[in-house]
Amino acid sequence: MNVAYLDNNATTLMPEAVVAEMARWANHGNPSANYASAKGVRAMMDEFRAFILRGCAARDYDVIFTSGATEANNMIVRGVIERARRRMSGAELHVVASAIEHKSILLALDDLVRAIPELRLTLVGPDAGGHIRAQDFARAVRASTVLAICMHGNNETGAVNDINAIARAVRGRGGTRVFMMADIVQTFGKIPVALRGEIDGASVSFHKLHGPPGVGCAIVRRAAFAGVGTLLSGTQEGGARGGTENAIGIGTAFAAARLVFAQMTATTAHELALKGRAIAALSARAPVTTLADYMGARTKLELQIVAVCDRGMMDPARYLPGTLMVSVVKHIGPPACNTLIRDVLERARVIVSVGSACNTSAEGHSHVLRAMNLPSVVMDGAIRVSMCGYTTADEIDRFVDGFLGEAQRQYRTAK
Ligand code: PLP
Repeated sequence: MNVAYLDNNATTLMPEAVVAEMARWANHGNPSANYASAKGVRAMMDEFRAFILRGCAARDYDVIFTSGATEANNMIVRGVIERARRRMSGAELHVVASAIEHKSILLALDDLVRAIPELRLTLVGPDAGGHIRAQDFARAVRASTVLAICMHGNNETGAVNDINAIARAVRGRGGTRVFMMADIVQTFGKIPVALRGEIDGASVSFHKLHGPPGVGCAIVRRAAFAGVGTLLSGTQEGGARGGTENAIGIGTAFAAARLVFAQMTATTAHELALKGRAIAALSARAPVTTLADYMGARTKLELQIVAVCDRGMMDPARYLPGTLMVSVVKHIGPPACNTLIRDVLERARVIVSVGSACNTSAEGHSHVLRAMNLPSVVMDGAIRVSMCGYTTADEIDRFVDGFLGEAQRQYRTAK
């Protein structure tokens, strides 16, 4: 039986046509050189930069290729804070970030808070559906705020934040002094993204778009460029990121991105249909409810499936179309265990991830679900399914069978 790969928010698989591009971009020489084949690579990279900017409706921004979004996030966060620190010589520096950011942002901030005594950090939590509210976020901005960070799509819950509204609210409180950044890794190429002028910097990773791992970019507004600085000194990428560019990876990523963008509308419709199919198939065999309805219910059923989202589940402006987090919530015996469910699914060749490992597992609850203040009984049973344009109805049906089979087994054991 084929592997049903339903972990596309972690990484995606490269189709044959994309793999073939790797050989095409090999052996062209150093992209900084002056011979014809190297110039061809440079031209490809410049074409890709223009493609990326069109892909997020960004005017007056530059693209800096990096080794992925982790590097792009670190480059922006560390660069902005270091610059501001030099400018403000000892005065308080403040950063506002959403509490649901990717670890590449939160861990960079942790390091900096430990290293810089004058640095203060405020983390803003999401609402019950996992979204960051613009007013809550902007309220945290102070006179000393130099950096504000809010991601577009969350990789665990799929919640999509209105980053332009958030950036406008931040500007309203902090003016142009605040560098506003948005991690657009999970939305770029999946739903429309428009970087308006209020957003100064963004990060992208191409292995989420059927490209190779180890290739990403920072997208920085030209007028804010000087604020970013560099992690790696060198002459490449206009001095913003030293090191010979990964031309093979960049050329391959370009081919992958072209395919993904050409199919974006069709993929969204396909994923929404599959998400609807999963919910319908689950509902036919077990009680299924949204988080808000579960929380609001006075009496809890012994076993039910809770979709970790609000009623906007099928709206791609509210949740990534291909992401579905569902939790087995059991109110008899011990809570359900999602790591067991994941392992049973894996034995049936269905690959998913745990939203937040159950209490009995060494992996622990995720910072995203904790920030949503989910009851631990919901976190313990949470499984994330993340699809792509190649996901099939049969794969979704196999997920539903394996998921419900193990949920019911755990329930029967408790009775
Ligand atoms: N940001 C988000 C939202 C992600 O999902 C990921 C991927 O894990 C990253 C950043 C890091 O990307 P990369 O793997 O390219 O370093």
